Amino acid sequence: MKGNLFVISGPSGAGKGTICKAFMKKHPEVYLSVSATTRKPREEDVEGVTYFFVSEEEFRARIARDEFLEHACYCGNYYGTPKDKAMEQLEAGRDVILEIESDGAMQVRSHFPEGVFIFVCPPSLEELEARLRGRGSETQEEISSRLEKAMSEFHRAKKYNYILMNDSVDAAVSRLEAIVTAEKCYMPRNIDFIDKEFLK
Ligand code: ADP
Ligand code: 5GP
Repeated sequence: MKGNLFVISGPSGAGKGTICKAFMKKHPEVYLSVSATTRKPREEDVEGVTYFFVSEEEFRARIARDEFLEHACYCGNYYGTPKDKAMEQLEAGRDVILEIESDGAMQVRSHFPEGVFIFVCPPSLEELEARLRGRGSETQEEISSRLEKAMSEFHRAKKYNYILMNDSVDAAVSRLEAIVTAEKCYMPRNIDFIDKEFLK
C-alpha cells in the first residue's frame, strides 16, 4: 500500500511548524518533506533539516529541471517541494507531510486529488498576530506582509478537507493523529485489499 500525502497549510504564525515538529517527534515513521527556499535562514534553521537554502538562480535552475512538485513565491521569497524524495517515500509506503502555503497546496491538489489537505487555524486573529509577533523572527514590515497574506489563506480554507484548530499544541497534535488514522481507514484506500484478499 502506498503512503498518504498530507498537505498542511494555514496563515503564518498559526502554528504549522510547531505542530509538525511535535507530531514528528511522536511519529518518526512519517516523512516530513524538506523544502528549498530562497529566504534567509533564521537562527533556529538548520540546512537540510528545516530547509535547503538556495540562491534565486539555483531555485530557477531547479524549476527549469522540473525538480519541484510545486513551488510558489511567498512574501518575496521562493519556496518549493523537491519532487523525487516525496514520491520515493510515498511509493515505499510511507506517509508524507508537506508544510506549504496555499498556492503550492492548490498546485499539489491538481496533481494529487487523493491527497489530504489540512488547514491549520489559530483560535482568533488577535492570537495569530500575538503568535507572529511573539515568534520574533520577522521585522515589523514582514509581519504586516504576512498578516495581509493570512487573509488570502483564510479565503481558501474551504478548499481543504480538514480544519485543524491549534488552540493548544497537544490538542492539535492529537487531532492530526486522528486525521492520519482516519485516512488510513478510508474505504477507497483499502478496497484493493478487500478485493485481493477476499474476493479474488
Ligand atoms: P507557522 O509555522 O504556522 O508560521 P509557528 O509554528 O512558527 O507558526 O508558530 C508561531 C508562534 O506561535 C511560535 O512562536 C510558536 O511557539 C507559537 N505557537 C504555536 N502554537 C501555539 C499554541 N498552540 N499556543 C501558543 N503558542 C503557539
Ligand atoms: P517560513 O518563511 O515562515 O518558513 O515559511 C513561509 C511560508 O512558506 C509558510 O506558509 C510555509 O508553509 C510555506 N512553505 C514552506 N515550504 C514551502 C514549499 O516548499 N512550498 C510552498 N508553496 N510553500 C512553502
